[in-house]
Amino acid sequence: MRIGAVTIFPEMFRAITDYGVTSRAVSEGLLQLETVNPRAFTADRHRTVDDRPYGGGPGMVMKPEPLEAALDSAVDAVGGSARVVYLSPQGRLLDQSLVEALAEEPALVLLSGRYEGVDERVIEARVDDEISIGDYVLSGGELASMVLVDAVVRQIPGVLGHSQSAAEDSFADGLLDCPHYTRPERFHDRPVPEVLLQGDHERIRRWRLKASLERTLARRPDLLEGRVLSKEEQELLAE
Ligand code: SAM
Repeated sequence: MRIGAVTIFPEMFRAITDYGVTSRAVSEGLLQLETVNPRAFTADRHRTVDDRPYGGGPGMVMKPEPLEAALDSAVDAVGGSARVVYLSPQGRLLDQSLVEALAEEPALVLLSGRYEGVDERVIEARVDDEISIGDYVLSGGELASMVLVDAVVRQIPGVLGHSQSAAEDSFADGLLDCPHYTRPERFHDRPVPEVLLQGDHERIRRWRLKASLERTLARRPDLLEGRVLSKEEQELLAE
């Protein structure tokens, strides 16, 4: 997948390119991440990308011309056609189904705002989608862009090893993941559940499914509202 990130802080994206699963995806050629800095498209000595808001008020607004040029450059860098997403607290909320839909796109361009946000006309002229990572306000869109990239990249076939299947993570099947344990067998007087030590794969599968169902019911009952339970799931919940 090809992703262009328009940002005045391109160094922040090292958190993705230099660490963990996303870094491996880059080195294996499964993720190509190009950052484009709007400051490169300014003509003044200070490389100004912001200006005072029309109508007055606090804060600054990102100027449209450098942003538009940076977006065009980012679209070119990822192959000439891409869905352009502005990370914004006013966008639709990112969830697992949106993550899975975005992972189907061959290319994305992600615009990170700063200050009070970006000139509205850039959004109207160049943005296909506004996406929020939650109902709170961050200082900039970079962390939100990286959250999106990390979640999307996990869905690309080949990025996660066999032992880290995304299909078993929370939300993939509409449920929260089951609890996990590793050695030692006893920690602060708490034993690992007996069933996990016995090697009976069918019993383990059923125990995990039941734990997922119970955990989802206790912590996120809203997830179960729109989900039809299979006969086995109904039986496990009733046990
Ligand atoms: N004045 C804007 C508002 O109230 O809608 C907030 C601007 S915020 C300080 C600066 C930038 O951070 C935004 O342009 C956006 O790119 C990013 N941002 C802030 N909160 C976000 C969120 N919840 N999801 C995605 N991006 C966010």
